[in-house]
Amino acid sequence: VRGAPAQYAIGLDLGGTKIAAGVVAPDGRVVAGAVVPTPVAGGVEAVLDALAGVARQVADAAGVALSEVVGVGLATPGPMDPEAGVVTFAPNLGWRDVPAARLLSERLPWPCTLGNDADAAALGEATFGAGRGARLLLYLTVSTGIGGGIVLGGQLVTGAHGAAAEFGHQVIDPAGPRCRCGRQGCLEALASGPATARRAADRLRAGEASFLTELAGGDPAQVTAVMVGEAADRGDLLATEVLAETTRYLGIGVANLVTLFDPDRVVIGGGLANLGERLLGPVRDLVRREVLPPANRVEILPVALGKSSGLVGAACLAWTASAGGR
Ligand SMILES: [Zn+2]
Repeated sequence: VRGAPAQYAIGLDLGGTKIAAGVVAPDGRVVAGAVVPTPVAGGVEAVLDALAGVARQVADAAGVALSEVVGVGLATPGPMDPEAGVVTFAPNLGWRDVPAARLLSERLPWPCTLGNDADAAALGEATFGAGRGARLLLYLTVSTGIGGGIVLGGQLVTGAHGAAAEFGHQVIDPAGPRCRCGRQGCLEALASGPATARRAADRLRAGEASFLTELAGGDPAQVTAVMVGEAADRGDLLATEVLAETTRYLGIGVANLVTLFDPDRVVIGGGLANLGERLLGPVRDLVRREVLPPANRVEILPVALGKSSGLVGAACLAWTASAGGR
């Protein structure tokens, strides 16, 4: 993607509930965008039809000629073989070994490239967002899970098997809660949205007083990380403590990554990044304090592309592929 891409690319960000699509201009602008539901119940064919349909829809809306679109990038969650264009396993979609790139290419007049959604977002931020100009960018998405991406000199680093940057599955506390990957005390099991909500809910169930009880309508099971942030904003002690634990765990995780990689920039996105400085401030402080110089000078920033980072990044996958990346 380095240098100016000559043509438009279409980005598709496929999630378990919705598909975000957009025609992206060479300067990173989303010229036309659309969001449609993911017809998961219809199976693989229905989802591929929906992807192709929304790609054509945004191309029409943008008024670009077929020949002006260089290709389509498809970002999906979970393990995959990007070079083969195969989604290995996507539990949200019920997919196993789906050759998504080929199936989508058969439905469209453009070549299609597959990539991991966190990798795509990392590439989008590196190319057009908060990672612009960075030599080595680490991207973390902190939401229901914790994922990541590594971009070195404008190129994704995906590892020997395409499985690099699983930042959420580094163990922070070997005695910590069980992670969905099977290990104990992964960053994801400690600092994700559900992990944060769970720790708050446990304390409510134990009888502690908190404004969270009111926010959750009296049911601890309804507590969300957003509520924890809101209660902390209002000075609630329990919420403040729970959030401090989350930022401490996340800070340790980011400090480990900075120690390993010495990046010049770390960009943090995902639902929890909406907490802004309440999340980023303590992470930044911990890294400054605990990581050895000069690596601790790293810049730690929120995403700049917001919800579009996935689809802009998916478009970047298409540009990379057309430039001979794969
Ligand atoms: Zn894990």
